[in-house]
Amino acid sequence: MPEKTKKTKIIKRIHVDADKCNGCRACEMICSAFHASPKYSTNNPARARIRVITDPLRDIYLPVYAGEYTPAECMGRNTYTLEGKFYDECAFCRAACPSRADFKEPDSGLPLKCDMCESVPEVDEPLCVKWCLVDALTYEEVEVEVDEAEEEPRPEEVELGLESLVDRFGMDKVLETVARLAKKD
Ligand code: SF4
Ligand code: SF4
Repeated sequence: MPEKTKKTKIIKRIHVDADKCNGCRACEMICSAFHASPKYSTNNPARARIRVITDPLRDIYLPVYAGEYTPAECMGRNTYTLEGKFYDECAFCRAACPSRADFKEPDSGLPLKCDMCESVPEVDEPLCVKWCLVDALTYEEVEVEVDEAEEEPRPEEVELGLESLVDRFGMDKVLETVARLAKKD
């Protein structure tokens, strides 16, 4: 069998220490401001790619990052009890999913995904990490070996957005709208 070619890649990782989080939501504020267009022109936590589940009565402060868009709900849902605390349905899930409003643009419903603050020029660490003054969030980069052939290109944000529109309205409707908008210009 031919030997698989290996290469290394950098995995960006944020460690969440939920025991340190105080629910201030500075991470949500800075994330939405950093991703506004132009940068820092507006700020709206509903557009953040991190969500802090905050329930003081249950002593729950849980930062959750926006992960992948999914067009379909799971067949079942989970609730958890951890150290005596009850966590609501899907609390730990990162998906932009049709079952809920989390991790979607509030106006358009387009999915939001944490991009680890990729930008030009580069930032030295994600903005949510920088602004978490109690160090509930910490950032690290680790190098891992992967098979070259198994590495798939990541879908771009615009592709994810289009995919979600196609799932909701159908390809014909999306194409028709794009054609109409292109004519307007
Ligand atoms: S900034 Fe830090 S302490 Fe504040 S809500 Fe976010 S994770 Fe929690
Ligand atoms: S890493 Fe960047 S994009 Fe991701 S939640 Fe934090 S501020 Fe938002």
